[in-house]
Amino acid sequence: MEECRISYGDGQQDQVFRPGKLLCIGRNYAAHAAELGNAVPKQPMIFLKPASSLIPSGDSVVIPTSSNDVHHEVELVCLIGKRGKNILQEDALSHIAGFAVGLDMTARDIQQKAKEKGHPWSVAKGFDTFAPLGAFVPSVRVPDPQSLDVHLEVNGEVRQHGHTSDMIFPVAQLISYCSSIFTLMPGDLLFTGTPEGVAAVKPGDTMKARISGLPLLDVSVEKEVSAF
Ligand code: ZN
Repeated sequence: MEECRISYGDGQQDQVFRPGKLLCIGRNYAAHAAELGNAVPKQPMIFLKPASSLIPSGDSVVIPTSSNDVHHEVELVCLIGKRGKNILQEDALSHIAGFAVGLDMTARDIQQKAKEKGHPWSVAKGFDTFAPLGAFVPSVRVPDPQSLDVHLEVNGEVRQHGHTSDMIFPVAQLISYCSSIFTLMPGDLLFTGTPEGVAAVKPGDTMKARISGLPLLDVSVEKEVSAF
């Protein structure tokens, strides 16, 4: 995915961003932390995904040959529109250009082995196609990011249903905290964590992810054809 585009309409020019770093938050909903047997963190737990894992709505998630357990995690995604370091919580939302629905696809079997060895999650989270991302709406049309319904259907069956009011660390706090470590740049993306109900997908599945007021994210699932 080469660009993230914000369309304002009304003759106003689109804003186009080149995707930068993908900041992802683990365990940001208590019920999801519990379903994987993890404690609720005392401060946001951050990991990174490469921008090469992004795909737009309409494309396919490819299950790599090295995993048999790839899970969906539906998440609210914020697009950073303004550079910032040590951003105050009260200024944080002004750094967001737009919101979209995202999926933080995770090779749970690879992640589990990494956890046991104390290794990073970069492989489990970073395969090509592991970050499907829907179209953005301008942030002005989302006055309160903590009042959104989050849904994921697989083959028409609801698998995840949460609400952003249940985030342990709300969006403003996540942006403030992340910016105390990383300078946030226009084009950076923040994946804000997933509610409960994560589960595996299989080739042939169709995922439809929805968050109140945001465009539908619709992706299918394929198995990687081995190149060897
Ligand atoms: Zn996630």
